[in-house]
Amino acid sequence: MMSVPAVTAEWNCTRCGTTNRRLVPADTTSTTDRCMHCGAWHIITPGERPVRWNARLKE
Ligand SMILES: [Zn+2]
Repeated sequence: MMSVPAVTAEWNCTRCGTTNRRLVPADTTSTTDRCMHCGAWHIITPGERPVRWNARLKE
């Protein structure tokens, strides 16, 4: 199994504004994460800049 480098995915909760961070494999195109503050699930996808990811509330 090849190891994929991990990158930091940083995203803002759309509900409470808390900044969350998660380590994901570098080739990730979409994943889900839960706000550490309010617990809302989000779908996060890479943004235009490294590290800063886009987040939308998961229904
Ligand atoms: Zn939140």
